[in-house]
Amino acid sequence: ATPMALMVGTGRGARLGILIKGPEALETTRTVDTVVLDKTGTVTTGKMTLLEVHSAASADEREVLRLAGAVEHMSEHPVARAVAAGAAERVGPLPAPQEFTNLAGLGVRGVVDGHAVLVGRVRLLNESGAALPKELERARAAAEAAGRTAVTVAWDGEARAVLVVADAVKETSPEAIRGLRALGLSPILLTGDNETVARAVAAEAGIDEVIAEVMPEDKVAVIKRLQAQGRRVAMVGDGVNDAAALAQADLGLAMGTGTDAAIEAGDVTLVRGDLRVAADAIRLSRRTLGTIR
Ligand code: ADP
Ligand code: MG
Repeated sequence: ATPMALMVGTGRGARLGILIKGPEALETTRTVDTVVLDKTGTVTTGKMTLLEVHSAASADEREVLRLAGAVEHMSEHPVARAVAAGAAERVGPLPAPQEFTNLAGLGVRGVVDGHAVLVGRVRLLNESGAALPKELERARAAAEAAGRTAVTVAWDGEARAVLVVADAVKETSPEAIRGLRALGLSPILLTGDNETVARAVAAEAGIDEVIAEVMPEDKVAVIKRLQAQGRRVAMVGDGVNDAAALAQADLGLAMGTGTDAAIEAGDVTLVRGDLRVAADAIRLSRRTLGTIR
């Protein structure tokens, strides 16, 4: 394309809420055949809410919310925000933890009122040596079968509760996925969340292929693997966790509503965070290059 065509293309893009970093990004839109979509915050709203609290016999519900809420308050993860907000709503101001560690893709660990508290995936709990009692395991299984996220809580080495958090698929996601398919791209849902939850979300959004339980540092390896299979990969993401994968992808599209790390790593920014605009961006770029397919 001529420099003039590129300027016109990027100018129109800006008006549509699409920021394109350079001519190479435009060029790549011609060849991408696969689009990998991060789940939380990209296909779903990322605005989760705390729906249910299931406490073990050994734990008082208010204590569960106070301790779990205090540790999660230190994290920016959408699940953590839901737990902290839901806890504060139910029990009032939360104490400040004496210690805090973020465990990316797993949960959080902290010390509150002298208790060593763990909040996160059941895997985190199991690795610490705690096991979920039967009634909590049932609550966890039921939540996940419904496509919800079960957050486990333990302190002082004992499992204390399962919190159920839910996120909604964005109303616009099914249309966005149809738009990407219409451009010849095969969608894949990529998430650190478990297979059951991922399948439920994918079905609702109209995605058949799911790659679940991927640790944040392994998302980039998934992109490399797809590329090694000869696929040309576009990736759409919003989180700090997605930055390396966005950079590795042939075409990285960052949600403008997401983190700065993701925006910096991407080739294209979807300013309003509307997934439908991902298809618009690819269509506009191809058109700018005069290569509509
Ligand atoms: P995603 O790929 O869905 O954006 P992450 O890779 O950040 O998610 O995390 C994977 C899973 O680990 C989440 O779906 C959630 O179940 C759990 N998790 C991560 N961080 C936290 C946290 N702070 N509190 C509770 N659960 C968490
Ligand atoms: Mg995300």
